[in-house]
Amino acid sequence: MIEMHDVWKTYADGTEALRGISIKVNPGDFVYVVGPSGAGKSTFMKLMYREERPTKGQIFVNGFNLERLKQRKIPYVRRNIGVIFQDYRLLPKLTVFENVAFAMEVIETPKRTIKRRVMEVLDLVKLKEKAGSLPTQLSGGEQQRVAIARAIVNNPAVIIADEPTGNLDPETSWGIMKLLEEINLRGATIVMATHNKEIVNTMRKRVIAIENGRIARDEQRGEYGYED
Ligand code: ADP
Ligand code: ADP
Repeated sequence: MIEMHDVWKTYADGTEALRGISIKVNPGDFVYVVGPSGAGKSTFMKLMYREERPTKGQIFVNGFNLERLKQRKIPYVRRNIGVIFQDYRLLPKLTVFENVAFAMEVIETPKRTIKRRVMEVLDLVKLKEKAGSLPTQLSGGEQQRVAIARAIVNNPAVIIADEPTGNLDPETSWGIMKLLEEINLRGATIVMATHNKEIVNTMRKRVIAIENGRIARDEQRGEYGYED
């Protein structure tokens, strides 16, 4: 599902963010990515959704070699990866419905299909009643649920979540966590970077720890392992 073979990333200013990462994530896995600030977690995530390119090494997602991808295949690969950010990144002038629909419009889905599917995912994230609201009219937790709806609307095989609970209080974070767990149980592979020690230590899923651009731990029922 996701594989990295000896992946290195050096930014233009010379910062070595990743230094020889090799991992394999299987279909249906739920993986936490932990580590100190500046360790390379975001870079690791960005490489998977092709926001950044590696300096060296190979990355495979959903069977595609991201480093040998023809330009015209990129939208197809992106459609099969849902991305969730700490700061939600909703379009502020669009309603909840429109924010979610947008992800389907860009791949030219028929209007009727869009309507049905958007309401289906808004129902899943319990926001059907807010379909006509603007993002500013929602709480942080609700905005993140819209972002999750947007991420899953095209039924991607892989969900990449970079600190999705980073701006949320503990109760709201648990709500988001339960939602991601449900999405995982419905078949999506989820890779989630987090600083939420309580969540990682309660859920006991696979934990990949990155320190100094290298894999420091990779455990099937891992723990957070840091004091922050
Ligand atoms: P984390 O998500 O674990 O905090 P990052 O992947 O964001 O780590 O950053 C890893 C290292 O790469 C840090 O030293 C950071 O300052 C650096 N870095 C991140 N993005 C860039 C960039 N665009 N240009 C230069 N250095 C960067
Ligand atoms: P909701 O109010 O929508 O149920 P909550 O955030 O209260 O959302 O809880 C969502 C789920 O997470 C519930 O099943 C709850 O039992 C669980 N949960 C909430 N807080 C914790 C916690 N600290 N540790 C473990 N599970 C929790």
